[in-house]
Amino acid sequence: MYELKRILILGAARSGIAAAKILASNNDVTISDLKELKKEDQDLLESLGVKVIITDDQCSLISNDYDLIVKNPAIMATSDITKKIEHLGIPCINEMELAYHYLPEYLTIIGVTGSNGKTTTVTMIYNLLKLHGYKVILGGNIGTPLCDLLSDISSNDILLLEISDHQLYDFHDFKTNISVLTNLYHTHLDYHGTYENYINTKKKIFNNHTNKDIAIINYSNSDSMNLTGDISSTKIYFNNDLNYIKDNLLYLDSKKYLNLDNMLLKGLHNYENLLAALLVVKLFKLDKEKVEEFIKTFRGVEHRIEYVKTIDGVDYYNDSKSTNPTSTITALKTFNRPIHLILGGLNRNQDFNELKDYLGKVKMIYAIGEVTDIVVNFAKSLDIPAFKCYNMKSAMKKIKENVEFGDIVLLSPGSSSQDQYKKFEDRGDEFKKLI
Ligand code: ADP
Repeated sequence: MYELKRILILGAARSGIAAAKILASNNDVTISDLKELKKEDQDLLESLGVKVIITDDQCSLISNDYDLIVKNPAIMATSDITKKIEHLGIPCINEMELAYHYLPEYLTIIGVTGSNGKTTTVTMIYNLLKLHGYKVILGGNIGTPLCDLLSDISSNDILLLEISDHQLYDFHDFKTNISVLTNLYHTHLDYHGTYENYINTKKKIFNNHTNKDIAIINYSNSDSMNLTGDISSTKIYFNNDLNYIKDNLLYLDSKKYLNLDNMLLKGLHNYENLLAALLVVKLFKLDKEKVEEFIKTFRGVEHRIEYVKTIDGVDYYNDSKSTNPTSTITALKTFNRPIHLILGGLNRNQDFNELKDYLGKVKMIYAIGEVTDIVVNFAKSLDIPAFKCYNMKSAMKKIKENVEFGDIVLLSPGSSSQDQYKKFEDRGDEFKKLI
């Protein structure tokens, strides 16, 4: 597909290296990164004949000397790098779009996106399809880069992908057969500049769809409904009058299908994720016994309102994946006991005021990260006792002094973690270690 081109790969993380491996044999490939690579990566790239450039000014590398740029999804839409690429009109893709061109025919591709619930929904679909006996390959934003999976994929497989808005940004030809949009909320505004840009990027999950392709859409989320009015896909809705949750029962096609009392994973949002997942699986095969077995055993995904431990009657939950206030609202709605909430992280101008109607059960707030002062001022304005902890260790120390039998300790920071951690998993791991 890509031959004899001069290609610049921006970012030598796993996906950049995976892309280099695919492109190196037929093209003149350069890869750049901000920091020195691991020795084994450097050696591998050199053995493939790939030129490696380490520079903190990647922008200066961008020129019409390149026919194609493969951009790491973390490079923001609003960055000088992206602006320069677009200004010069250089074709730009990302690793997933690249891999798409090397996929076998007759593959069924399922893509899941949305502001919240992507990983949980994808994991549910994956487990359910496997329980029903299908060969499913899971990739994208979750796990292994798609380029590294190519050799495992054959025709007639199902390829299941979690796709973030950062990945969708550089999609052009990529087309799924089934797309799920879980919901849309105000988030990632720094990446996209405006909410409008963000949701229009999300719309690319339905790119190139015809009425032979399926779109699964959240009927109760008005932004999702407005965005998808004019897409060509055949639409299937959840949270409408056919497929919905009521009184802990899940309905499909207006008929009672499942009693959710037996579901191990709690929270209305998780019931909705299950509903969306079932609508996907139903397109293949849906065996009620298998679904019942699944809900009794599925514990959810680590760092997503994950039950950790009970100590002296206090339950500890790790929701480190909460990187925006909307996720924190979801976590707060899950509990009906007094909560000690650890809140804060990187300052991305997130609006903690969104939380104010959901803090009724919150006894105390422990502010951490760059936004510590902002969080404490916010809590004080609502007369909720709050402590300036700055980091997890101090927060946990303070919590130990305050908790009482029957309370819940919830890490649901409503903020990204990169001010103090490399990734949200590290934040959740530290919380669990300190427990
Ligand atoms: P994502 O992959 O989109 O970030 P996850 O499945 O990892 O989503 O869940 C992250 C957090 O988002 C959860 O801990 C929960 O607080 C919240 N969440 C999950 N599903 C939903 C949903 N359907 N609606 C609203 N919030 C949700």
